[in-house]
Amino acid sequence: MPTPRIILLLTLSTLLALCACTGDSITDDSPSDPVVDDDGTIFVDGIAIEPAEPELVLSDEEWRERLSDEEYEILRSHGTEPAFSGDLLDNDAQGAYVCAGCGHELFSSETKYDSETGWPSYWEPIGEDSVGTEIDESFNMLRVEVHCAHCAGHLGHIFPDGPDPTGLRYCINSLALNFEPAQ
Ligand code: FE
Repeated sequence: MPTPRIILLLTLSTLLALCACTGDSITDDSPSDPVVDDDGTIFVDGIAIEPAEPELVLSDEEWRERLSDEEYEILRSHGTEPAFSGDLLDNDAQGAYVCAGCGHELFSSETKYDSETGWPSYWEPIGEDSVGTEIDESFNMLRVEVHCAHCAGHLGHIFPDGPDPTGLRYCINSLALNFEPAQ
């Protein structure tokens, strides 16, 4: 059993990771309210909330067999890896980033940039059917969660502070990705 001291340290490290990933203080909880347009689509920070209907559905036991413990924690338990810990953070090779859970293509090296947040960052997914989005209200924050459209594995979050041309930052856990170099 973890001791209370270890639980406290784990909690603090999680909160610090969340602060760094948002760029905001965790006490600055003044999220903009969701907006609903005429078509009924919900927007948070101008980002459309469009959950994907996964084609690959596995049991929890099957996911545990398929993934490492670290990958499972991110992809299936909505975890966040520590900042600056990911193997793909500084990868600047040409190629595609695919889901570590199912191999679905998610991002291109063409849209990867250094956000200085400690997580691999992209300003756009590789295709229209690459990812889905959901509202994430955990930790008393309002954020846009981004997941793999094929298996619904949690990837990270989207923030409206990215570079042109989209102005978006897809803040993605390295552990949720595999890199496939261009041929
Ligand atoms: Fe996937």
